[in-house]
Amino acid sequence: MYNGKKVFVLGLAKSGLAAAKRLRELGADVVVNDRNEPSEPEKQQLEALGVRLVCGGHPLELLDEPFDFIVKNPGIPYTNTLVQKALVKHIPIITEVEIAYETSEAPIIGITGSNGKTTTTTLIYHMLQEAKRRPLIAGNIGTVACEVVKQATKDDVIVMELSSFQLLGTIRFRPHIAVLLNIFDAHLDYHGTKEAYAEAKGNIFKNQTETDYAVVNADDPIVMQLAKKSRAQHVPFSVKTPLSYGATVKEGAIYFHDKRIIDITDVALRGTHNLENILAAVAAAKLAGADNEAIRRVLTTFTGVPHRLQFVAEINGRKFYNDSKATNILATQKALSAFHEPVILLAGGLDRGNEFDELLPYFKHVKAVITFGQTAPKIERVAREAGIQQVKRVDNVEQAAFAAYEWSSPGDIILLSPACASWDQYKTFEQRGDMFVHAVHKLK
Ligand code: ADP
Repeated sequence: MYNGKKVFVLGLAKSGLAAAKRLRELGADVVVNDRNEPSEPEKQQLEALGVRLVCGGHPLELLDEPFDFIVKNPGIPYTNTLVQKALVKHIPIITEVEIAYETSEAPIIGITGSNGKTTTTTLIYHMLQEAKRRPLIAGNIGTVACEVVKQATKDDVIVMELSSFQLLGTIRFRPHIAVLLNIFDAHLDYHGTKEAYAEAKGNIFKNQTETDYAVVNADDPIVMQLAKKSRAQHVPFSVKTPLSYGATVKEGAIYFHDKRIIDITDVALRGTHNLENILAAVAAAKLAGADNEAIRRVLTTFTGVPHRLQFVAEINGRKFYNDSKATNILATQKALSAFHEPVILLAGGLDRGNEFDELLPYFKHVKAVITFGQTAPKIERVAREAGIQQVKRVDNVEQAAFAAYEWSSPGDIILLSPACASWDQYKTFEQRGDMFVHAVHKLK
């Protein structure tokens, strides 16, 4: 379907590169435009394939040629002048996931929401793998979707994490199973309003038919509102209300369609927010043919996606958790809510002008706070206000891990959940988390 088409790829990066290559293989005539120059290997690869490269700016006259459509990098905003011109000229604008859908022989499970996408996608992937259903993971965590589907046959299943940015660029995209986890205020700079943002997420349902499934969070009114537009069979999940249809929690256990799957006490992941992700994953995996035994095996052993309330190790009765992805206060609140044991909290990082008073109500189980980074004094103030006696400032997460261990007793939780971005001291939250994990292994 792309043979002979004239395509403009706007924004190179990983997804633009993959889309340009794939479209060329399928016989399209491809022009790539990026405001930055590509790396030498990228340039050579693309030129060898016969892709035309125009880099170093976004000259508007490029669009004077008759393009059939534009593949936009999800990160490029609609306010970009080239995008604006394309809209005026009614040139369809898609993202790479649309190409993935159009070229995939395998059915797609699409997962979106404001929070929990990576965790849920990973859980579904592991459940289907345990059940021998041949899943392939695509999207932010894995390989670019249009590359993944290349190797897929109809016996595989694509498990695809989707952002609102990607979903905005879909036309016929239609996942067989669509999962919508939740809608919070996010990315308002890009989408303009919360309604526009929710609408973009809702795109996951727009082409579904009666033979498809929509896995929806019954506890989120905006999700349920969006789901009304879906013609797919609705399969709800809820942590709050016991349901007889869908995935739910009853009598301390997880159920799907009224069949008991596993006791909550046997689940390795912690936190109510993760329970939501688990219910969504159970529903999607069951609909895709996973058996309860496979699901149980994953839930008893899966300790989390790295840096997201991930269990690291137990040392002399102390349990270490890495939640370096917690770059804001809300995430740290969620992490603290996940524990009933005494917690030693490791927090601090880039100062964005926040005060941290919203953490105060969550400090009930916190026995000590170790701080680092720019926000250390602010977090110390809140800790003292909460009546916590043991408060200490250190230089980095490694020292924080050591200091926490010194103050700890058997049964304690040692939790890195910084409530701040990492850029004052670390390149990424991943680097910060890795340093912590490394320090924990040294303690062993
Ligand atoms: P995403 O891929 O959507 O960013 P992740 O699975 O990577 O989501 O989780 C990122 C963070 O979002 C977690 O560390 C946690 O603080 C929070 N989170 C995860 N799942 C949920 C959920 N279901 N509801 C609210 N917050 C969540």
